[in-house]
Amino acid sequence: MDHKARQERLQKTLSSHRLDALLVTHLPNVRYLCGFTGSAGVLVVSGARSVFFTDGRYTEQARSEVRARIVIGREGPIAAAAEWFSMHLNVSRKSRSALHVKIGIEGEHVTVAARSRLASLLPSGMRLQEVPVLVEQCRMVKDEEEIKRIRSAVLLGASLFDCALEKIRPGVPETDVAAEMEYTARTRGAQAMSFETIIASGARSALPHGRASRSVVPRRGFVVCDFGVILNDYCSDMTRTVYVGRPSSKERGAYQAVKEAQQAAVNAVRPGIAVSEVDRAARNLLRNKRLGKYFTHSTGHGVGLEIHEPPRVAAGQADILRPGMVITIEPGIYIPGRWGIRIEDMVVVTDRGCEVLTPTSKELIEI
Ligand code: ZN
Ligand code: ZN
Repeated sequence: MDHKARQERLQKTLSSHRLDALLVTHLPNVRYLCGFTGSAGVLVVSGARSVFFTDGRYTEQARSEVRARIVIGREGPIAAAAEWFSMHLNVSRKSRSALHVKIGIEGEHVTVAARSRLASLLPSGMRLQEVPVLVEQCRMVKDEEEIKRIRSAVLLGASLFDCALEKIRPGVPETDVAAEMEYTARTRGAQAMSFETIIASGARSALPHGRASRSVVPRRGFVVCDFGVILNDYCSDMTRTVYVGRPSSKERGAYQAVKEAQQAAVNAVRPGIAVSEVDRAARNLLRNKRLGKYFTHSTGHGVGLEIHEPPRVAAGQADILRPGMVITIEPGIYIPGRWGIRIEDMVVVTDRGCEVLTPTSKELIEI
């Protein structure tokens, strides 16, 4: 990973936001920019400098991981960064009054308490300014190494679907299915699951986020399986919906409609179009089949170091797809109290369209 290049790219964007420095506190952003994988650390990016602040517990780890100057703060990383701001931003900008020093903070991630604490530690005149998700903007387009890691995570994740298929039987608790998948994931090298495994059977399949519960798989009905792993720091995410027993023709038709909507959205993915177009492709198809009102969430999201990261693939979102972006395509329909269906793949945007990374068939499997 070329952390220096990432820091330089970010440094270039600071002046257009009229910032003297950016305080990066969101840990996935810190990791992306300098390589730190621990749980307490902040990175300051300023002009041509990047300085990383942590506490004494991470001295060794920071030395081996971090590509930036390292400062170990006795009072914690935020206090250490505040001290650095007071010393360096004032001194190195003598020609300008401290009144003009503007420090960007990640508004989406900084708590009110952290913000007040930081403000109280800074010299009067230095201003904090919330900035949009600058680092996430950089993270949207993945480089080759990242795509390689994502591919491996996707393949490992997809291999767990076989465990689910073996385990899903009438009378088996959903948590047993999830447990088997999660145990296998760990034995195959996953650092963790990328989110709580969703196994939602019978009427629970109508809950878009039906985490595996003690409910048992009924004799008949859909089972939504949504799961992913973290491998080499990168996440995977996929959903398949299977049927226990024989589906009615209406259920079969609904599954077919979701499958077609998912394919329509995949077909829409190409560089230069807005993510909202991808959402529209799936939504229009379901609307035409009078199922639109049951599609109650957005079509997808970016995936990388985090399971949900920009862009949001949803109506009204203006982000433009570029080669190297990795997103999910996951339309679904949910009939409250009865059943639900979702199909989700991960795709990477290529020069001409996209490549579907998830290798698993989307034909309806009857168990
Ligand atoms: Zn998912
Ligand atoms: Zn997803």
